[in-house]
Amino acid sequence: MKSSLLYTFFYISTTFLLVALLSTLTGYTLELLLITLTLILSWHLFNLYRLVCWLEKDYNLVLPDSITVGLWGKAVNKISSLQKHNRKRKRKLTNLLNRFRTSTQAMPDATVVLNSRYKIEWLNRAATRLLGLKACCDTGKLLPRLIHNPIFHEYLQSPPETLRDTIEMPSPCNPDKMLQVQLVPYGGNKHLLIARDVTKLHRLKQIRQDFVANVSHELRTPLTVLHGFIETFQDEFSAQQQSPACQELTQEWQQPLELMVQQSLRMQNIINDLLVLSRLESEVPNEQSVPVAVTQLLENLHLEAIALSGGQQHQLSLESVPDLQVYGQADELNSAFGNLIFNAVRYTPAQGKIHIRWFWDDDGAHMSVTDSGEGIASEHLPRLTERFYRVDVGRSRNQGGTGLGLAIVKHVLNRHCAHLEIQSQVAQGSCFCCNFPVKMIVL
Ligand code: ADP
Repeated sequence: MKSSLLYTFFYISTTFLLVALLSTLTGYTLELLLITLTLILSWHLFNLYRLVCWLEKDYNLVLPDSITVGLWGKAVNKISSLQKHNRKRKRKLTNLLNRFRTSTQAMPDATVVLNSRYKIEWLNRAATRLLGLKACCDTGKLLPRLIHNPIFHEYLQSPPETLRDTIEMPSPCNPDKMLQVQLVPYGGNKHLLIARDVTKLHRLKQIRQDFVANVSHELRTPLTVLHGFIETFQDEFSAQQQSPACQELTQEWQQPLELMVQQSLRMQNIINDLLVLSRLESEVPNEQSVPVAVTQLLENLHLEAIALSGGQQHQLSLESVPDLQVYGQADELNSAFGNLIFNAVRYTPAQGKIHIRWFWDDDGAHMSVTDSGEGIASEHLPRLTERFYRVDVGRSRNQGGTGLGLAIVKHVLNRHCAHLEIQSQVAQGSCFCCNFPVKMIVL
């Protein structure tokens, strides 16, 4: 840098020395100075012109010596090395991009790159097979206009924090195929849509559901018959208890028969709950939801809870916004709220407090059941809604529980776009709250 500056300085000072010498000899100082300045300026302009031509991709243009020496030379060398570096980087990036595209093309999952408005920017071959999209004619088009599925449209409109959840929907180009779709936001405002073929898994799930439903259905009738006969035997034995000849025999059979009635009733309850769960899982949520008068529903359940509490004299209270209604299915909501309220009665010691509340706020409508019962340790909370999960198996069985109540609650709430929130502290009590979004409130 220093040498090129010195070179330029030497070059200009020599020129001006020559001009000074010539003007002393001839006496035309001003004219000679003007001519010299014009020549220097023209030389610089010409060099600039060559540089611009060269930068505008005319790399074949041979640079004159004038532009390869001094400060001009330094600038050209710098630009040239920068360009070389950039070309190398570009080549590297292109290779990387090509490698990425080749690997994504080979992926069995459909991958679609979308911009902030869900316009397609790029897609792989699996996207054609699974989603029916074509790279040649669908790139640049809006994805919601190409996939006509209400579940998918609702998913695209959901808030960003829920986008990371997956949805399942039939393939738009082959209804026999089931897809698991996930939208991943990235790079600020872009989205990556990933669709996976889960047909086999879906079928297995279906087989399991059908199996449980069929077994439950097949067991229901024989069990009802058995239960009926056991009850008849019990009645017969009670009637014969009066006769002294049979007294010993009836006393011997009294306890086993009571146990048989109890256990067959428990099995019937389990089968009924399994059938309810199968129905909730297999049936598509009723599109024609109707306004449900929740207050009326809770008033009935409140009375039933008082009856269930019986001699235990729980302090049951109900606080409800009378006109607050939600869209849904009354029988399903009745079963979900009933499960929560009756659980509170069953798991709260005698004279404990149980408060049922139906209210709304900015987040939506809420039905909460708070009790002062035994509470649940925090490690159990995430698993409570699993089928047959019980904190205390013996206690649940003694209370006539099936272990399926909260699983039913979860499914019912899912079908109503709602979710269950559980807060609990051991020896303090629990609060089970059903949260309905604002869109489910009848305005
Ligand atoms: P169960 O028929 O056994 O009551 P649920 O699915 O209704 O089955 O409940 C699962 C488990 O959650 C219960 O076994 C019980 O241990 C616990 N549980 C539910 N509700 C309460 C509650 N209000 N207080 C304490 N524990 C509860």
